[in-house]
Amino acid sequence: MSSENSSEKPADERREQPGTGPDEPGTGPDGTTPEEARSPEGARSPEADRGAEAERDVWDVIVVGAGPAGASAAYAAAVAGRRVLLLEKAELPRYKTCGGGIIGPSRDSLPPGFELPLRDRVHAVTFSLDGKYARTRRSKQMLFGLINRPEFDQGLVEAAQKAGAELRTGATVSRVEQHGPAVPDRRTAAVVLSEGETLLAHAVVGADGSASRIGAHVGVKLDQVDLGLEAEIPVPETVAEDWAGRVLIDWGPMPGSYGWVFPKGDTLTVGVISARGEGAATKRYLEDFIARLGLAGFEPSISSGHLTRCRSDDSPLSRGRVLVCGDAAGLLEPWTREGISFALRSGRLAGEWAVRVAEAHDAVDTRRQALNYAFAVRAGLGVEMSLGRRMLSVFERRPGLLHAVLTGFRPAWNAFAKITRGSTSLTEIVRTHPLARRALSTLDREEKQGVREGAAESA
Ligand SMILES: Cc1cc2nc3c(=O)[nH]c(=O)nc-3n(C[C@H](O)[C@H](O)[C@H](O)COP(=O)(O)OP(=O)(O)OC[C@H]3O[C@@H](n4cnc5c(N)ncnc54)[C@H](O)[C@@H]3O)c2cc1C
Repeated sequence: MSSENSSEKPADERREQPGTGPDEPGTGPDGTTPEEARSPEGARSPEADRGAEAERDVWDVIVVGAGPAGASAAYAAAVAGRRVLLLEKAELPRYKTCGGGIIGPSRDSLPPGFELPLRDRVHAVTFSLDGKYARTRRSKQMLFGLINRPEFDQGLVEAAQKAGAELRTGATVSRVEQHGPAVPDRRTAAVVLSEGETLLAHAVVGADGSASRIGAHVGVKLDQVDLGLEAEIPVPETVAEDWAGRVLIDWGPMPGSYGWVFPKGDTLTVGVISARGEGAATKRYLEDFIARLGLAGFEPSISSGHLTRCRSDDSPLSRGRVLVCGDAAGLLEPWTREGISFALRSGRLAGEWAVRVAEAHDAVDTRRQALNYAFAVRAGLGVEMSLGRRMLSVFERRPGLLHAVLTGFRPAWNAFAKITRGSTSLTEIVRTHPLARRALSTLDREEKQGVREGAAESA
């Protein structure tokens, strides 16, 4: 659990009107200070009153999307004492296609005091290679936790609300405008809802998931899109007992694909993921996978699909007063497609930097703050993504090798266990273990060689 400290004061005490915060310049929308706006008798002029009224209608930060990224951003901005509006198109709690695996970095990025609604604690992993060579590895310590997304996401939103953020559900954002008649001044952006209502904010955070409208506004560029398919399968007690505390990871038949069984008490979340564009093969893989596990006789309560997207290295993370985070920014581990920790971590950064963007009084300062956000994301999550891409490329070409190493070479299993627990990261292992670094470089060279040979053959 995160040890980050936040103010313990009730939200109402901490929230101040815009322009009167301790570190705010304290100017009105027309640039006047409170002192300038007062008449000699000390009464506020009608212009200043109108200005203050208009400013009250402008949120410091509007966050679009109430998944882990949005809830995290709203929490971070609200805890800093800013007026925050969190917009969500669905009614909460809402279902989200997701395994619900909570690894160490996710757990460490939760708001202080947040109680994880764990459905199971994973102590064992069975690995298989397209249904074959199954081998189970066990750990005395918990490896990672499993949650149901509706309750997890709802809990995060409640934490943001407790910190002072206001939530509006059933509010679908259709676009953001930073110029034009809907935008009163250069310190403000307009968020337009699908039924036409316009809301104003000094900063906007786009956390609206993998089909993000705000991401399109920012111009997010992608270099990997995958399709995940999942079934929530209620099972009898005897079957549930067999799975308790153990997950299955199956390296799949298509390059870069894999499947999983994540137990959650009386329900198993069974899913597969593979590159987009192979929809029929991905569907077949899920059906075969379920049949092979002897689960075909149980009717799923939910069957669904969802895209995951990874940004390209040079993709923007902001435009003007708008920042993007989580899936909306394409921030996701490219190999495992783990995205909750990326959403929580980037969401928190986006909330923190949105506060600074909201305070920026000109385009230069806005740009500086937005670049600082991008720098913070790239320095942490960007580095993890680069390594994840290299791992995916090895896995796409050599799934059998990965399977053999994880199941037959204890240090590799120990590293897997430590990464999932959050006591180290893949980046750290590659940085500090010469053997791991050499192995990865050799495999990188192999790939480059393969690409060169492929190019020569087709020339
Ligand atoms: C099959 C599958 C399995 C996965 N398993 C795991 C796993 O086990 N562990 C893990 O860490 N990650 C997993 N992921 C990835 C993880 O689900 C995502 O990375 C994570 O949900 C991203 O969070 P987010 O807040 O960015 O987006 P989301 O969780 O998608 O939230 C976006 C929110 O925005 C709302 N929204 C969308 N458009 C609008 C709009 N226009 N206006 C207002 N609101 C809007 C949506 O309703 C939604 O509530 C999985 C993904 C898939 C597809």
